[in-house]
Amino acid sequence: MTVKKNPYLELIEIPPGYLNIMGYVDESEVNGPGCRAVVWVQGCLRECPGCFNLRSWSFEINQLMAVDTLVEKITSNPNHEGVTFSGGEPFWQAPALANLARKVKARGLNVMSFTGFTLERLQSEYAPAGSQDLLAQLDILVDGAYVESLAINSPNSPVSSSNQRVHVFNPSLKDSINWASDQTEIHIFKDGSRLITGYLGTQII
Ligand code: SF4
Repeated sequence: MTVKKNPYLELIEIPPGYLNIMGYVDESEVNGPGCRAVVWVQGCLRECPGCFNLRSWSFEINQLMAVDTLVEKITSNPNHEGVTFSGGEPFWQAPALANLARKVKARGLNVMSFTGFTLERLQSEYAPAGSQDLLAQLDILVDGAYVESLAINSPNSPVSSSNQRVHVFNPSLKDSINWASDQTEIHIFKDGSRLITGYLGTQII
C-alpha cells in the first residue's frame, strides 16, 4: 500500500511514543459529545482561508508530550467521557494518536477526531501513514477541510462549513451529535494563558 509521507514531519524529529501538540484542555463540552478532553496536534499543510487556528500550521516542535502522559491526564479526570483530536491535522500524527486512542478506549472512553482529509481519502492508498489504525479506533470522525465560501456560521451546526461530514462509527453515539456548538468556552490556566474554543474555532492567547 502507498501511504503519503509528510515532508515536514520527515525533517522534524518527534521521538517515538510522543506527540507534538499545539494544546490540550480538560472538560470541554463544545468539541464533541459530553465532557471531553481535547488534544490539538501541531501541524497542518492546508492553509485554509479563514482558518481560526493559524498557530497550528507550523510543523516545528511546539510541545512534545508522551502518549502515556496524555493517557494519564485524560483518564485521571472522572468527568471525561471521551477525547477529541483536533488540530492542526491529526492524521499526520496518526500512529501516535492511534496508540493513544487504543489506550483510552481500553479504559472506557470514546474517541473522536476532526480531519481536513475526506474519509474516502483516509481509506485510500494515498492516506497518511497510520490512518487505517487511527480510523479503526474512532467512534466519530468529522471530515473535510474548512471551506470559507461554504461557511455555515450557525451556532447550531456541528460542522463549520457545509462540505464537512459527521461520521458516527459507534452506533451507541448516533444520537449524540448534539455537542454544544452554540457555546464558546474560555479556559483560563494557572499560568494566566487562556484558550478560547467553540464553534468559532480555537485560539490560545
Ligand atoms: S484543515 Fe483546519 S487547521 Fe488546517 S488550515 Fe484548514 S481549518 Fe486550519
